[in-house]
Amino acid sequence: MPDAASAAELESLLMSRSLGDPELAAATEHTPDTRILPDVSVVKVGGQSFLDRGREAVFPLVDELLEARRSHRLLIGTGGGTRARHAYSLAAELGMPTGVLSSFGSAVAGQNATMLGYLLARHGIPVVAGGGFEALPLQLSEVRAAVFAGMPPYAMWQPSPAEGVIPPYRTDAGCYLVAETYGCQNMIFVKDEDGLYTANPKNDPSATLIPEITVDELIERDLPDLVIERPVLELMKRAQHVRSVQIVNGLKPGNLTRALAGEHVGTIISAGEQQ
Ligand code: ADP
Ligand code: MG
Repeated sequence: MPDAASAAELESLLMSRSLGDPELAAATEHTPDTRILPDVSVVKVGGQSFLDRGREAVFPLVDELLEARRSHRLLIGTGGGTRARHAYSLAAELGMPTGVLSSFGSAVAGQNATMLGYLLARHGIPVVAGGGFEALPLQLSEVRAAVFAGMPPYAMWQPSPAEGVIPPYRTDAGCYLVAETYGCQNMIFVKDEDGLYTANPKNDPSATLIPEITVDELIERDLPDLVIERPVLELMKRAQHVRSVQIVNGLKPGNLTRALAGEHVGTIISAGEQQ
């Protein structure tokens, strides 16, 4: 790896070149990697797969999160789920564009964050959004957890998908991007299946569990459907910090706790070492 760019070199390139210049990109690549919240774990609680199941699924997970908070700092992101899907179908049928659907997804993930936040409120755990993220370090060191809505705030500026109007970057991507941006320790997706299968186990009984796979292999296999949003794979390939994620079945008590402790309990998807 070439030597780290000096401040003077970087500044001279930044002042003289276009921001798309390849040499400039290479120089910024060789700056130090600063992890902002390296001892924090991001936990995404699924919308359709988890929160929509109500009390039976959510209360035990809340207990598990509270217990886990003793030994881990937690950033808890929420999915959207069935209500978001309903809004997407109605909006799509009315001819609304991706950017409009994206805002609906945010609204529903926000409702789920609010509800989860109220369940955790008496333990001092806040819900953060927008500028509230700036107070996160304090909250994470004092109460050791915070809740956020998983949808990335692209809203009207959500990139269009290759086909159709469903926002491609939804709550899996949003939670993953928080983990990567802050250089967090773990990214765990809590869903209702034991991990990634060869096909959606809900409609293909012959599907088998894949305990571990690389991003490249997974893209190569081109499975009919995935347990996490496909764009997360592309984000992982370019990641500096969070090069692997785990998908766990949160309906089985203890799985999240074990995954937080670094155990392999679901499917680990990894992007390998950075090129
Ligand atoms: P979330 O609630 O986090 O948004 P989703 O419902 O979008 O989660 O995704 C999880 C669901 O994905 C699972 O409940 C499962 O039915 C489905 N799924 C689709 N393809 C797969 C696969 N290959 N392996 C496992 N689950 C899959
Ligand atoms: Mg989803």
